[in-house]
Amino acid sequence: MDAIPEAIQNPDIKYTKLFIANEWRASSSGSTFASINPSTADKIADISEAKESDVDDAVKAAKAAFSRNSEWRRMTPSERCKLMSEVADLIERDAQYLASLETADNGRPYSLTYGDVMTVAKNFRYYAGWTDKYHGKTIPFNGDYFCYTVHKPIGVCGAIIPWNVPMIMFSWKVAPCLAMGNVMVLKPAEQSPLTALYLASLFKEAGFPAGVLNVIPGYGNVAGRSLAHHDGVDKIAFTGSNTVGRLILEAAAASNCKRVTVEMGGKNPNIVFSDFDVDRAVKLSQTAAFGNSGQVCCSGSRNFVQDDIYEQFVRKCIEEAKKRTVGDPTDFKSAQGPMISEQQLQRVLGFLERAAANGAKIVSGGNRIRDRDGYFMEPTVVTELTDEMEISKEEVFGPVQQIYKFKTLDEVIERANNTRFGLAAGVLTNDFNNVMEIANEVNAGVVWVNCYYPMSPGMAFGGVKESGFGRDLGEYAVQNYSDVKTVIMKVPGRH
Ligand code: ADP
Repeated sequence: MDAIPEAIQNPDIKYTKLFIANEWRASSSGSTFASINPSTADKIADISEAKESDVDDAVKAAKAAFSRNSEWRRMTPSERCKLMSEVADLIERDAQYLASLETADNGRPYSLTYGDVMTVAKNFRYYAGWTDKYHGKTIPFNGDYFCYTVHKPIGVCGAIIPWNVPMIMFSWKVAPCLAMGNVMVLKPAEQSPLTALYLASLFKEAGFPAGVLNVIPGYGNVAGRSLAHHDGVDKIAFTGSNTVGRLILEAAAASNCKRVTVEMGGKNPNIVFSDFDVDRAVKLSQTAAFGNSGQVCCSGSRNFVQDDIYEQFVRKCIEEAKKRTVGDPTDFKSAQGPMISEQQLQRVLGFLERAAANGAKIVSGGNRIRDRDGYFMEPTVVTELTDEMEISKEEVFGPVQQIYKFKTLDEVIERANNTRFGLAAGVLTNDFNNVMEIANEVNAGVVWVNCYYPMSPGMAFGGVKESGFGRDLGEYAVQNYSDVKTVIMKVPGRH
């Protein structure tokens, strides 16, 4: 096998400071935090830590970029489109670098982060296309009046994003925000700030005016909290845990009633009917459960399997889980890299321990992989679960496939919906009736039929119930980054 290039294993880290008004600045307090490579547990960079006054500076820079006669506000939609397309080209130009940076910072396999870069470029191109297309209506009005609506940018938008797929999350927030003519202050997760900072440099290179995009790495309860509470922020977009999502909602209510969109995780059912090919079902179900080490809000963590294939399905899942290659994420042979952190690994092991103590059976895996320094964990298969156990209710965010047995369509719909979440769902079946019933009746923002995880820029992604509200991607995200203004004009007439 060819050796893995050094540039992929140890990418040069170029940007570690706050990006405010197109400049790199140290934190006003001088404080930094460590960025850790989860594959080795080694520190790879010291990152400037944004404190309250830095957040304030970033918001002021964004506000200035959005002022009435600013370069950004005077820009035509076509010019905005060009800039966004330019940034997509630069992202593709630096694909190898960005992918290696993401893999070093977050442990997601390089084979996937490279694809992420391409997705990010596609997302920017897609939203470049929206810059001149989201227009209002003329509305028939009672009396001698002319009425129209116009879609206006909201203003200063804050984004707080998680660590699991950092570049993708960056594009989901930044692309529709800027396409609609807003400005943004983005706080990446403290576990994975590097790609957001590098991407910011590409915005400067593409020619975006100073202050249009600002990136402020820092801790959630300091920088994130301060951004969510800031009176100068007009909208906040959040993706992360349910607990923090609630704090964001409280912050909006306690400050200036800023608009909020929140995506707060899921406990997603992936339902396998016995008419579906079992081998394919095993493969798709493990992709759903183990993808990105299970650190995905829409992972298929509750795997419901119909009783007549249940035993066979479980046996095959165990075989496949044992074959899954876990290791160096820069190696193309690795299907799974490390967990993001020691804390996350311990959290997942804690869920398993408590589930086992309550009668669940760990039939494969369940342990930390000890022959490596980083935060690696075995792909894990769990059976003998009840719907009421903690592990069936809470987001585990680890490589854990939880398998449940069901008999009938009605039963599985009820059990699938027995959760406070409603982000995604999957169904594997060749029966049209099953497809339609699941697609219609399972309460989820996204339903995958005979597949799991495919995404495209034009789709809508987001949840119902406690998974949150608002949508990323597609036209729906464009709506979430604009306000509707209605104008009514008196016109000459009979009245
Ligand atoms: P995860 O479970 O994915 O770590 P979190 O909800 O903890 O999700 O974190 C998601 C994002 O929210 C991160 O950028 C984190 O720094 C930020 N965050 C954490 N706590 C707060 C808070 N109190 N206020 C605002 N943002 C926060």
